[in-house]
Amino acid sequence: MTLWIDPGAGQVLEVLRRAGHKAYLVGGCVRDSLAGRTPQDWDICTSARPRQTMELFGTERCIPTGLQHGTVTVRQGEGLYEVTTFRVEEGYSDGRHPDRVSFVGEVEADLARRDFTINAMAYAPGEGLIDPFGGREDLLVRRLVRAVGDPVRRFEEDGLRILRLYRFGAREQLAVEPATGAAAIAERARLDCVSAERIWQELYKLLAAPRPGSWMPPEILGQVLPWLDTAGQPARYAASLAVVDALPPDPLVRLAALLAPAGPGAARQAVNALRCSRAQGEEVCALAADSALPLTGEPLRLQARRLLARMDARRAGRLLALRRGQTGDEGFARLAGEVRRLEQEGACCRVGQLAVNGKDLLALGVRPGPGVGRLLEAALQQVIEEKLPNQHDPLLGWLKENL
Ligand code: ATP
Ligand code: MG
Repeated sequence: MTLWIDPGAGQVLEVLRRAGHKAYLVGGCVRDSLAGRTPQDWDICTSARPRQTMELFGTERCIPTGLQHGTVTVRQGEGLYEVTTFRVEEGYSDGRHPDRVSFVGEVEADLARRDFTINAMAYAPGEGLIDPFGGREDLLVRRLVRAVGDPVRRFEEDGLRILRLYRFGAREQLAVEPATGAAAIAERARLDCVSAERIWQELYKLLAAPRPGSWMPPEILGQVLPWLDTAGQPARYAASLAVVDALPPDPLVRLAALLAPAGPGAARQAVNALRCSRAQGEEVCALAADSALPLTGEPLRLQARRLLARMDARRAGRLLALRRGQTGDEGFARLAGEVRRLEQEGACCRVGQLAVNGKDLLALGVRPGPGVGRLLEAALQQVIEEKLPNQHDPLLGWLKENL
């Protein structure tokens, strides 16, 4: 079997192999190539030790990314390639980190430490696919995600794999192999040992998958987001999953959809516990807090301007997508179209966009202080309601009359 591979990655393999080392593409890039998608990055594994890799490519082309784990990043042409020595991991006494990693000489041993059969394949041009666990058949024929080896043990070693199971299932639209799924549910408390950052990274990718609702069992989501009370409120959770599936694949909107029914306090606690970035947390909480936004029956353009007076166009777009997903009401989609039109026009919806500013008011003799802001807000209201054009002279005239 022959796969198309990235030329830079091919050159890195060539250099390693000509020097007498074993070298393969491995993991996600092999899976994605077999599935007919173009991989994001091309990871390489090799029998060469990190020091040998660095000598071969020269230190100026190498970044010692994680030497103790065996990883060197090699620059080849325009691209960067992670080159990692074949290794095995032993003694996961804490449920997240191996106590020891040891370098080994054979690719099969390296593949055996990987999480799922679809991720445990290697490929080299000329040599073909190395697939000791039947990953190709699982991916293309049986269409399922299956743990490499005993699933209970694999989830005990690293609890994050439980979330990764559903993430890959959703992303590839693969069923969860029954024994692997049963082990994931049984071992779900292992997720508590995993750092919030790693959980959020995987949850983010799960929420970015197409229609991920079928890969979000209540036991698992309840473990990482106890605020959802998936056990106590199963009907509410089922309804949230239907909304998630109806939404565009935007993780922040989808997280807001899950958290909105749990209330604003829950949303705040969840984003804090997940250690989302500040911007992500603000976005999710704002969306959840506004998740009862109604359509008013006023002209769409007026509703759109009112919305843009309160939030930027990006958040407004997300909020309207959320409301459409929650209600199925196409009115929210039309309103979103209006928001996009106003944004393209550069229509004035915020004080900062007004054709007058504080200095103009001071020149009219207004005393510095909060009154300036209040007058500008009032002028903005006139512009939003389209009672005044956003032009300097008419606005100044109106302000003079309304001081
Ligand atoms: P993506 O396209 O999302 O990056 P990926 O398969 O490259 O998918 P990564 O998380 O980047 O996923 O991991 C790269 C490879 O390393 C995986 O394909 C898998 O073989 C292995 N791997 C990563 N994390 C784990 C883990 N927690 N346990 C076991 N193997 C893992
Ligand atoms: Mg990757």
